[in-house]
Amino acid sequence: MAARGAFGLLKHGRLALRPLRRGIRIVQHLACYRVPGERRRCPACASPAIDHLEPLVSGRSSFRFGFISGCRRCGLLFANPLPDDSDLETVYSPGGEWGRHRQEEQEKQVSAGRLDALFAPIRGELRVLQPPADASVLDFGCGLGGMLDAFAAAGWRTYGIDPATKLAFSRHRELTVPPAEAVFDLAILHHVLEHVTAPLSILRDLAAAVRPGGFLLVSVPNIDDLPEHGDVKYCLRSEVHVLAYTSDCLAWLLAVAGFRVVSDARAPGNPRKRVVLGRRENVPLSGPPTPLRSGRAVLARYSATHAASSHARPRWLPVRVRAAYADLKRAEWRIQR
Ligand SMILES: [Zn+2]
Repeated sequence: MAARGAFGLLKHGRLALRPLRRGIRIVQHLACYRVPGERRRCPACASPAIDHLEPLVSGRSSFRFGFISGCRRCGLLFANPLPDDSDLETVYSPGGEWGRHRQEEQEKQVSAGRLDALFAPIRGELRVLQPPADASVLDFGCGLGGMLDAFAAAGWRTYGIDPATKLAFSRHRELTVPPAEAVFDLAILHHVLEHVTAPLSILRDLAAAVRPGGFLLVSVPNIDDLPEHGDVKYCLRSEVHVLAYTSDCLAWLLAVAGFRVVSDARAPGNPRKRVVLGRRENVPLSGPPTPLRSGRAVLARYSATHAASSHARPRWLPVRVRAAYADLKRAEWRIQR
């Protein structure tokens, strides 16, 4: 009888401990949440001055919540954690998801009129449809070569770099990296910088490859107008478009690399995209800016004008706790084990 009573107490005690233990694990999860691979430095300027601005679900490393993080030094917004090297290899190698997607795509023709419109703001300095003799262009991330085709038709010598597909290189010269000599009149970064994890080194490499007075075209998703167009997944997500640049941020990174912004506007006919033109010259830097103000303002205006998802609320809680709670809800089955 005594033994049975002791057994009952023991059993009851274990049952009572179970919710207590679960509660402790939940509190620990909320208080100490860290995401595997979480970045502590800015992927562009390497500053440790990182703020977490919103929770962001991470698709590739499945079942985790990370952050939209921002850099107080250069203003970059980025998915945190970023894809690691094996993720990038999976997506961008020739047999990877991106390469297969590109090779299955129909080749997109770029008309002379579209090419002319992209460079309209600097028509007085560069007539893309009537280039100088021996003018050469490098398209970094040229894909299937649609834009290079338009340049070649206008009389440019055309060079491309693309690790994901080789289909452009039956018609255009292939490089694996930008040359260290300043030989190009123009470089193109057409929807590349949102995909990469070290943008400043690419900008510096292209600054070395473009002759003084030459030009760089950068097109990126337009996060400055996110509250107006509302396409947050196009601007920033954890898998493909992993970095987002406000105008302030991009201008500063271009200046650090050696390009002065001469035009920054919405893409013709598409408010989700922005086209920036830079001229190769050494730009004096006027001290560190505070461009994260723009990124914060854009995200706050977006949240105010669009229905916030449940993991974005309540906004008065620290972002890390909101991410931890969202992660807990997604992974609740794990806690129960
Ligand atoms: Zn930075």
